[in-house]
Amino acid sequence: MMDAVIIGGGPAAFSAALNLKIRNKSFMILAGNEKVTGLMRAPQIDNYPGMPGISGTELIEAYRRHVEEMGIEIKKDKVYNVLNMGDYFALNAGNEFYDAKCLIIATGHAKFKYFEGEREYLGKGVGYCATCDGPLYRNKSVAIISQNEEGEEEARFLSEICSEVYYLPMYKEQPELNDKIKLINEKVVDILGDGTKVHTLKTDKSELKLDAVFIIRNVLPVNQLLEGLELEEGSIKVDRSMATNIPGVFACGDCTGKPYQIAKAVGEGNVAALSAVKYLDSVR
Ligand SMILES: Cc1cc2nc3c(=O)[nH]c(=O)nc-3n(C[C@H](O)[C@H](O)[C@H](O)COP(=O)(O)OP(=O)(O)OC[C@H]3O[C@@H](n4cnc5c(N)ncnc54)[C@H](O)[C@@H]3O)c2cc1C
Repeated sequence: MMDAVIIGGGPAAFSAALNLKIRNKSFMILAGNEKVTGLMRAPQIDNYPGMPGISGTELIEAYRRHVEEMGIEIKKDKVYNVLNMGDYFALNAGNEFYDAKCLIIATGHAKFKYFEGEREYLGKGVGYCATCDGPLYRNKSVAIISQNEEGEEEARFLSEICSEVYYLPMYKEQPELNDKIKLINEKVVDILGDGTKVHTLKTDKSELKLDAVFIIRNVLPVNQLLEGLELEEGSIKVDRSMATNIPGVFACGDCTGKPYQIAKAVGEGNVAALSAVKYLDSVR
């Protein structure tokens, strides 16, 4: 049982991590896909003090170096789901499970539109983690719609157990797939079913008959991550101590709302960590 887990791999998460380390807490960073933070795409950052002209990639590398030099563990696991167990939290990160007394969520800005049918069929054939739910569709037909390369690994895994795997990339790079996976470069229009389960994925050019659709996004809908987390205009609602409505859960950075800026993310990460320390001391 760790004191804390930090979910995220951007400025907010790294800032929180430095402060937890200095305060001698046991924790790890579950950072997900390292290419996901929008910061990697920033060509030049001029509004962050002390590093004029630095690029986003250089800044994130500097953060990582700093964190690693302090002996902090960064894992690339993506967290799919967190269960509130009352006095601790159980995190599902695909093949790995972790327990922690408190959580700091720093998952960035979840900007996306749900697909037609996605919310209606969530848990009825629509899912966000192929590793977790794929085995339910052994010898069945499935599709993966993916915003990033992470979906390729999920597709290769599903191709070992499912009869048909369709792959619909939402990014420009050519995916690396095996020949059991059918690459579909079409636009998703609708996820259709009979009210109880999915049976069709409709695109702008075809209708794929299938049993499940896995959607891999850069950032999961936050309310999927942890049930009961209160949102405000789509962002996680926090108070000035970065506490959410769930005791022991803190949030920081772009996931708490505007402005979407590095300095704000770093500052909130600091506050979230200090509040987490206070919380841990109070429940000891
Ligand atoms: C092109 C571009 C240019 C920008 N330029 C500037 C600028 O010049 N100045 C400025 O101040 N800001 C700029 N920004 C904004 C800045 O990048 C963000 O405000 C900042 O990165 C927010 O930090 P964060 O830690 O909250 O989130 P992010 O940096 O988005 O990091 C979120 C992290 O969480 C991880 N994650 C998400 N979900 C999960 C999960 N379920 N499990 C595990 N990990 C997960 C992601 O992999 C990612 O590593 C720019 C953004 C973009 C896109």
